[in-house]
Amino acid sequence: MEMTTEAAAVPSIEPEQTTVTVDVLHTGAVAIDRALAYEEQTWHPAPETGWFRSDSNRVWVPVSAYLISHPEGPVLVDTGWHTDVRTDERGHLGRVLSSMFDARLPDGAAVTEQLADRGLTPADLASVVITHMHSDHVSGLDLVRDAPEILVSERALADATGRFSQNRFLAGNMWDGIEFSPFGFEESGLGPFGRSHDLFGDGAVQLVWTPGHDEGQIAILARTVEGWVLLTSDVIYGRQSLQDGSIPGLTTDREAARTSLEWVRSVADRSDCVAVLPNHDPNVQPGRVTSQ
Ligand SMILES: [Zn+2]
Repeated sequence: MEMTTEAAAVPSIEPEQTTVTVDVLHTGAVAIDRALAYEEQTWHPAPETGWFRSDSNRVWVPVSAYLISHPEGPVLVDTGWHTDVRTDERGHLGRVLSSMFDARLPDGAAVTEQLADRGLTPADLASVVITHMHSDHVSGLDLVRDAPEILVSERALADATGRFSQNRFLAGNMWDGIEFSPFGFEESGLGPFGRSHDLFGDGAVQLVWTPGHDEGQIAILARTVEGWVLLTSDVIYGRQSLQDGSIPGLTTDREAARTSLEWVRSVADRSDCVAVLPNHDPNVQPGRVTSQ
């Protein structure tokens, strides 16, 4: 799959267009093998699992969620860890996932606790948007089940719930009884493969198809008064990948992962891009995103 120049094109921001604000929430942390975040050349067949790997490869990184404030209502992006990981991490993650990584959720950090701090309940949200179905992004789904709608791309949902899904880092119990509103991508010309979904129909929040780490993964382009904010989800694990070009160690399609990474780089290079925020980058601080 080749990225065309027009496909990479992000529109310029015009005065009078609707803008949003973006808040970064750290909804706990996860200890992962470094090879999950940055692909390694090694004799090991699956270093991203951390199995039979030295503890020195293990790093704690934040698990982010985001609150986007649009005039039509607040949008929560991803859900962080469920409060169950505080008392029964193994039960919540299951045997396989808990052998790959550790979860940590400090008091007050759960997504609903942070919404409550802002005087919000899940029912007050316009929607919840899931970037992909890996456990660290959907663990808290049950906490926000009262949201008016929970959006996920048709491809991400099919990839996660297919009978023969080979997708790692999934835990089906995390979406038990959750009613999703799956969305398809439009041939918009936006993104590495020219496909995206315009959440409110006004261009302010674009859900951009960025496959590679996961078939149906999206990145989110949010238009703020200061410029574009790009939430990369796990297209890259840290901004270090903008420099060294490393893709995640866990991919469903390495070539697509590279194309998605190149698109993220092309957005980062724009003068009207305020911030590029990988979900698990330890250097990204919680709070309102501004150009400062
Ligand atoms: Zn992740």
